[in-house]
Amino acid sequence: MTGSVSRGSRRKPESGSSHPIRRSRRVACGVCFPQLPDEQFAAQFREALQRWYLQHHRRLPWRATQDPYAILVSEIMLQQTQAATVVPYFRRFLDRFPDLESLAQAPLEEVIGLWQGLGYYKRALALHQAARILVRDHAGEFPREPMVLQRLPGIGRYTAHAVLSQAFDLSLPIIEANSARVYARMFTCAQPLTSSAVQRWLWQVAERLVAPRQPGLFNQAIMELGATICLPRQPRCDACPVAQFCHAWRYQRVTDFPVRGPARTVVQVAEVAIVIRNQDRWLVLQRAPDADRWPSLWEFPHAETFLQESAPQAVQRIAQQLTALQVTPSQPLGHVRFSVTRFRIAMTVWHAWAQKKEITLTSLHHAGRWLKRHQLRCLAWSTPQRRVLAMLDKS
Ligand code: SF4
Repeated sequence: MTGSVSRGSRRKPESGSSHPIRRSRRVACGVCFPQLPDEQFAAQFREALQRWYLQHHRRLPWRATQDPYAILVSEIMLQQTQAATVVPYFRRFLDRFPDLESLAQAPLEEVIGLWQGLGYYKRALALHQAARILVRDHAGEFPREPMVLQRLPGIGRYTAHAVLSQAFDLSLPIIEANSARVYARMFTCAQPLTSSAVQRWLWQVAERLVAPRQPGLFNQAIMELGATICLPRQPRCDACPVAQFCHAWRYQRVTDFPVRGPARTVVQVAEVAIVIRNQDRWLVLQRAPDADRWPSLWEFPHAETFLQESAPQAVQRIAQQLTALQVTPSQPLGHVRFSVTRFRIAMTVWHAWAQKKEITLTSLHHAGRWLKRHQLRCLAWSTPQRRVLAMLDKS
């Protein structure tokens, strides 16, 4: 982060002052949402926010361009991922694929290879498909209509608005995790952000607030505020440039917002992964391109174990189910633990021998290969499977 944030102390506003927050009074309605901000509130809020942003924002590479392609790449990479993590991936990706045409022409394996380590590989597939459609159906130009852009794979309302507001100065609002949190606190929204009624209300708030001029800058500013000041835990209200507009701060209820929904149930899963060897080669499988998780990535055969099934029994059953191979389990290599959404997965890795090489795949996998050790490293792996590969390297 190159821009610093002022930590000057901020006084709580006097009660009864002619404060802008007074113009955003709450009204009772069917579901008790705060009243939408009026134009005067919006103008004052924008000015305070944008002034702060111009002085303090982080210099991130996608903020120095109005190229819609580069902005789209950054937006897809930033989904579920911190900006600091994205920066080197974004640079490498743009070096290799500087425009829509180069990405559209690239083989998917190469795109996934550059994405390796960022996670959520479906994003890479969607971006690759979107580039191909834009080149094929739109002559490599970005449509200016958000609804047209939203029809492309991997592009929702937020991404379409973020790209069009930054690249073409279209006054379109955005709502994502950071802006949603800021608005929930500013207007003390009494319902969880996951509710669809709250989502609709948030988009209405954003529509009222987005700047008619330089909307991209406003959208970047509200996200930057959420990412660097209005943090999920311990927001830095003393340094907040818009504290005077914030109900939660005014009533000292910052920790009460956003309101939490019911906790998601965590599911524990036990799996076995099998490193199957035949002479000097190991069996690896490529996941189907439409797989829910890790599409088109390579992996060792693995699956959930049954209750009351021993690990060697699971090794034999899983190898048979996924590849039709008869294997002989030899020894455990170790454990890999990881989380996917609400699933906590404990995977035991086993070594096993196969006498034959003929395999039959299920619909889960697209291809299977017997490879030597040095060849394994050239494939695109998911993060948990790369840990299995590291285990094999050490064995
Ligand atoms: S005052 Fe605090 S809670 Fe309110 S918007 Fe600023 S950082 Fe967030």
